[in-house]
Amino acid sequence: MTEPKNPSEIAREALKRLAARHLAPTPSNYQACYNEIAGLVEAAPFPEQPLRLIAHALFADNEVQEKQLHALDAAIGRRSWRAVQDALVAFVAAGVGKEKEVVEQSSALPPEFSAKLARFVESVVPALGDENARVGEMLGPLLQALRQPPVDSAMIQSMLANFGHQALFAAEEQAEIKDSLLKLLHLIIENIGELSLDDSWLKGQIDGLLTAVAPPLTLRHLDEMERRLRDVMVKQSEAKHRSIEAQEEMRQMLAAFIDRLAMMNESSTTFQGKIEKSARDIEQVKKIEELAPLLKDVIAATRSMAEETAQSREQLQTLRGKVLATEAELVQLHLELDSASALARHDPLTDALNRKGLDEALAREIAGVQRKESQLSVCLLDIDNFKKLNDRLGHEAGDSALIHLANVARNSMRPTDTLARYGGEEFVILMPDTPIENGIEAMVRLQRELTKAFFLSGKEKILITFSAGVAQLAAGESGADAIKRADRAMYLAKRAGKNRVMSG
Ligand code: GH3
Ligand code: MG
Ligand code: MG
Repeated sequence: MTEPKNPSEIAREALKRLAARHLAPTPSNYQACYNEIAGLVEAAPFPEQPLRLIAHALFADNEVQEKQLHALDAAIGRRSWRAVQDALVAFVAAGVGKEKEVVEQSSALPPEFSAKLARFVESVVPALGDENARVGEMLGPLLQALRQPPVDSAMIQSMLANFGHQALFAAEEQAEIKDSLLKLLHLIIENIGELSLDDSWLKGQIDGLLTAVAPPLTLRHLDEMERRLRDVMVKQSEAKHRSIEAQEEMRQMLAAFIDRLAMMNESSTTFQGKIEKSARDIEQVKKIEELAPLLKDVIAATRSMAEETAQSREQLQTLRGKVLATEAELVQLHLELDSASALARHDPLTDALNRKGLDEALAREIAGVQRKESQLSVCLLDIDNFKKLNDRLGHEAGDSALIHLANVARNSMRPTDTLARYGGEEFVILMPDTPIENGIEAMVRLQRELTKAFFLSGKEKILITFSAGVAQLAAGESGADAIKRADRAMYLAKRAGKNRVMSG
């Protein structure tokens, strides 16, 4: 018996098998390989026999249907659900014309209704992706039919039914593709995490990434994930580069240290030899005059030994200093890495974007406004009497109040909105696709949410209020100028008695 494989191993093997069999990387092929390796064949066996019975029970009324029956046969042989679906849908569609003849009278659609229907169909198609070619093939004739009055309602009904079938497949396919991509992404992120377990900063970032890719997937989540991933990549390569350099320095210093030790050993061996020889010579001395030169030799050898030792000690001390400096640099590098996450684009207290993050988000939103010709509302809000709250309850309670406000704001905002901490108790909210009236409405809604969600300091319920200014980005206006206008409106709201929203 072989050991059961874990899901990561199965997923990896499934990818390899997909490549080895030259199969198209579709979700269903991936799923089939995965099930095969995981021993889950019973989970969704391909019902070849029952499908063949169905295929034999069908009779073709025309050439197209004949062709589709062959295609169905081939699809069953290839065990491809997609191809089976395509063949069956096309078979049914080819029989529709006959049915139409039987229908005695069929009414025409009101032209306005069919034009609206055409616009509706056109607007849903982008959501179905480009993967399903049949959707594209059916779209042209359908739109053409809808836009050429009089539009026969029975014909359109059957065309819409076929298109609907195909759209359903395409939507299911999109959902599967999204699911599979997310699974692969999880796998990749987990693997990066396993490679760098000893680095607490990276570990924190990886955990953040895993949370960011958890469903429900929103554009804000994906954006967040992209930014974090970029940070991880930049910091990882920086850390690798610097620690390789530091390692090389350490290696060179160690080599110099060993050389020095060897030299010291050598000179002390020479010294020992000289002293031993002098001792033997001294034993042979008969007269006192012969002793003087011998002593001179001993003194000279001792002095040179002492000098060499002092020199070596000095060199060793310098070397030790260098080692300590390199070590300190490595510690510093780790400290920098630990704080890099906070410095990057988020305010560590509230997890809202910081000024740098806000600048980037503004640039992105402004580009979006130009591309889509839509409206962007910018709000600047400042907590009322925050100094008093700090003075009465302490700075820590003040910090918790800021976190509370950020959380309530995030819950009441749309997924596409952006929250940034602009200063101490000031926040900026970017609201894309939002004209000013709706921006003001959103801020009033946030005020209401805050009256419902009290901030608790110990057991005391505290109502946090804010004053806000909202400005709609004007054509050609910079983000900074729009914020300035929102700031002026916020100031007017303060002057008018606080706890209110004004437009700039
Ligand atoms: P106003 O209604 O006019 O806005 O009055 P205010 O008291 O809210 O405004 P002011 O500008 O006088 O004071 C802001 C206070 O916010 C002063 C500062 O100590 C506090 N603050 C700024 N940043 C932080 C922070 O990060 N944590 C805490 N606890 N307090 C902060
Ligand atoms: Mg302020
Ligand atoms: Mg204030």
